[in-house]
Amino acid sequence: MAGAGAGGARRNRRTAGAWRVVAPALAFFLLATAPLGGGEACGPGTARAAPPRVPVLFANISRAGSDGWPVPRHAVSATGLRVDGEIMVKLQDLAQVLGAKVEGSGRMYQASRNGQTVRFYVDSPAIHYTTSYTITDPVGGRSIDYTHSWDGRAEAPTRLIDGQPWVSLNTAALALGALLVRYNPRARRAEVYDWRVFYTRPLSDPNIYVTGGPWLDSWEANAALNVSPNFRIGLDNLWDSGATDPSYLHQLKISASTLQSMENVLALTGIYFTPTNAFRSWSYNQELEGSWSRSYHMRGRAFDGGNGDLYRAAYADLRGKSRQPIDAESFWQTRNPRSRTGLYEIEKMPVGESVWLHGQREPGTDVANYGP
Ligand SMILES: [Zn+2]
Repeated sequence: MAGAGAGGARRNRRTAGAWRVVAPALAFFLLATAPLGGGEACGPGTARAAPPRVPVLFANISRAGSDGWPVPRHAVSATGLRVDGEIMVKLQDLAQVLGAKVEGSGRMYQASRNGQTVRFYVDSPAIHYTTSYTITDPVGGRSIDYTHSWDGRAEAPTRLIDGQPWVSLNTAALALGALLVRYNPRARRAEVYDWRVFYTRPLSDPNIYVTGGPWLDSWEANAALNVSPNFRIGLDNLWDSGATDPSYLHQLKISASTLQSMENVLALTGIYFTPTNAFRSWSYNQELEGSWSRSYHMRGRAFDGGNGDLYRAAYADLRGKSRQPIDAESFWQTRNPRSRTGLYEIEKMPVGESVWLHGQREPGTDVANYGP
């Protein structure tokens, strides 16, 4: 697939453009999902040579491999195109596997996933991102609506090919909240890692996330922006603060439910804490010794903060009237129907000699298929 222009003879293969599911013992087998197929997707319909194809693997994450990259799980592959050095994917293919919905016509198309919308404009690299959610003030009980809108720029202009919008794989996937996009030179394919991937049928996740990163214009200027009454994107370490890969420095993904629990913990304890960590990119999480390769920090549903006081308050909240919360291996899980924090799980402490509060929101560690 790397040989530009040489692929013409292969265009007739019936498999082109169809989903391929990667299962451990079954190698590649084809799914008869005709609407997603369309083997002739390559022809731009002009005299130009058709761009070369690139396989794109979408996957959940099993663990970290010996090379430091994720080991794919529940993977499915699609056919991308390499256009002017950038990898493009059909927006509908990306949306289908990540659980997003595509709408639009003419010059504008958008993909939406749980309160987030990313807009693409044909023949333009511009993107427009919005997310809307509600936080309840735990003190007054007042609902506060948040809407964030940001402009950005994809690596390549959106293109209409045979009436279908094709978008920059990297920007589109990250803007929708995927954890990581990379080109794997050994396997000669692009790889997208997202916690919702489960073959062709994405796992469900009702959370609304705020996502962002260097693909948005002037992203750094949002460091002081409040995404809840008391927590700011950068100054409170909600975004990734330790990535060695600059593509992911200050990447953000955090659920409104996590922000709500942070506010609840503050209200419960009266302790104005600055989280040491909320979202972590793959590379930052890899750098941290002893960090789980499927950490909830990478899913946008965990935060670390404070000391023993916060931990003990959260433990008491999850315990409720029972002797202890539910024992879930490394975590305590809530058994309190009247919980004030709304936390689903906290990490058991101490870890080594240290005690802090690691709180996380559902779907929890008890969901099937590795969860979203
Ligand atoms: Zn943590």
